[in-house]
Amino acid sequence: MRTIDHIYINGKFVKPHGTEVMDIINPANKEVIGRVTLGDEQDTRDAIAAAKAAFKTFAKTSIEERAHMLQRLHDVIIEKFDLLNEAAVEEYGAPAAATAGRTMYAAKNFLHNLDVMKEFQFEKRIGKAKVSLEPLGVIGLITPWNANYTHISTKLAPAIAAGCTVVIKASELSAIQTQVIAECFHEAGIPAGVINFVNGRGDVVGAELTRHPDVAMISFTGSTNVGRIIARDGAATMKRLVLELGGKSPNVILDDADYQKAIPLAVMTAFSNSGQACHVGSRLIVPEHRLEEVKQLVIKTVEGIKVGNPWEEGTFIGPMVSQKQYETVQHYIHLGVEQGAELIIGGSGHPEGLDNGYYVKPTVFANVTMDMTIAKEEIFGPVLSILSYKTEEEAIAIANDTIYGLSAYVSSSNLERANDVASQIVSGRVLINGLYDEPKAPFGGFKQSGIGRECGIYGLESYVEPKTILGHDAVPQ
Ligand code: NAD
Repeated sequence: MRTIDHIYINGKFVKPHGTEVMDIINPANKEVIGRVTLGDEQDTRDAIAAAKAAFKTFAKTSIEERAHMLQRLHDVIIEKFDLLNEAAVEEYGAPAAATAGRTMYAAKNFLHNLDVMKEFQFEKRIGKAKVSLEPLGVIGLITPWNANYTHISTKLAPAIAAGCTVVIKASELSAIQTQVIAECFHEAGIPAGVINFVNGRGDVVGAELTRHPDVAMISFTGSTNVGRIIARDGAATMKRLVLELGGKSPNVILDDADYQKAIPLAVMTAFSNSGQACHVGSRLIVPEHRLEEVKQLVIKTVEGIKVGNPWEEGTFIGPMVSQKQYETVQHYIHLGVEQGAELIIGGSGHPEGLDNGYYVKPTVFANVTMDMTIAKEEIFGPVLSILSYKTEEEAIAIANDTIYGLSAYVSSSNLERANDVASQIVSGRVLINGLYDEPKAPFGGFKQSGIGRECGIYGLESYVEPKTILGHDAVPQ
């Protein structure tokens, strides 16, 4: 049983002013495994004040000093690798193997940003002007529960590289993971006040960060609905914003694809991170004349997927993070049936023998049309919709018929054709014939999937503001 009754401000773990206590529940068995005392507005203001004070000196640190810090932040994650993974499996319910991959990704984020920072031109000449790219100031980092360490590191690493100080508000559902990573960062020896953590509710701590005049930017990952609130409330103080929001990503399978490979991969893509990921390909778009074959391949793949205890080897889908998320997924499964989609596997309720946790059945609907709610809204669980098309133009139109534009997938045996289709899909990322990552390439969304980009040079640029100086080399008369 973990008791988390400290937040991290100005280099110290301190008792919060807030007094609300929340249970932390293991989603795999619904047992209470901890209690967290949530911070409040006062705690948030204290953390912002510490970050503001630290910014004065941190903004002036050299590239070499910050390179050392980024290296240390990487190293402490590696040192505490097992502890971090354990916390993620227990508190979030993510299958262990996937968790380890994500923790490693979090560590590497610091090294990728170190490389980017070394090559970044913090000062440029444009004509007669000297343009310096200055750190923005105090940044509020607000993250969701579905990959706690990844989101924190994706935002923290460029902030450090740029010379910004931060207040981190992770999800209230990730309190144990946040505590463990805060302890790691404490050991990294970063100057006091540069990194601060406040546990708390979004509408309390997140809202205070959003409206506080001393916070220059909010870097947020989460739902499109909350992104809208942050954009609206941040406008009063002209907050800079990076918003990484929801998705309803299309997976277009062209008629010449290798279906034996493409369809199992499409199912895995839809159900990765137990379906609780922003980039999952939750709309599988297939040629009408191959629909029956697709359905059989999908059923066969889903039957082979292991759902269950996240610690067990081979588990691909763990429980949903919370009772609320379990209910959300059930709600969408009911809607799918009600609105006339064809349920080909899965359905409502728990998988057999797994009613002790927030487990759902991996579920697939065929004959889904774009007017159905399950085709439009992000479900954030292992529910896949199959839509069919007659022509390639129609496939592209279906892919783009969404308010989102975060990720997309295309399969074809003809690369030229696949690239042509990819170029017509309105999406921040398009993956062709497989799953790849390039951690220094921009990540983010078109349309209502967000504003701005993370990762690599595009990510770092969000944390600096250009200042133009003219006459810097003029000889005084
Ligand atoms: P959420 O939007 O409910 O919460 C995200 C964070 O925002 C949490 O820390 C929460 O406490 C905080 N928050 C809530 N209300 C707030 C407010 N009024 N002001 C400021 N902060 C507030 O999202 P979630 O349920 O934690 O995560 C799931 C969502 O995250 C999905 O929609 C998913 O698509 C999105 N997501 C996006 C990406 C991406 O990179 N685009 C990655 C992962 C998750």
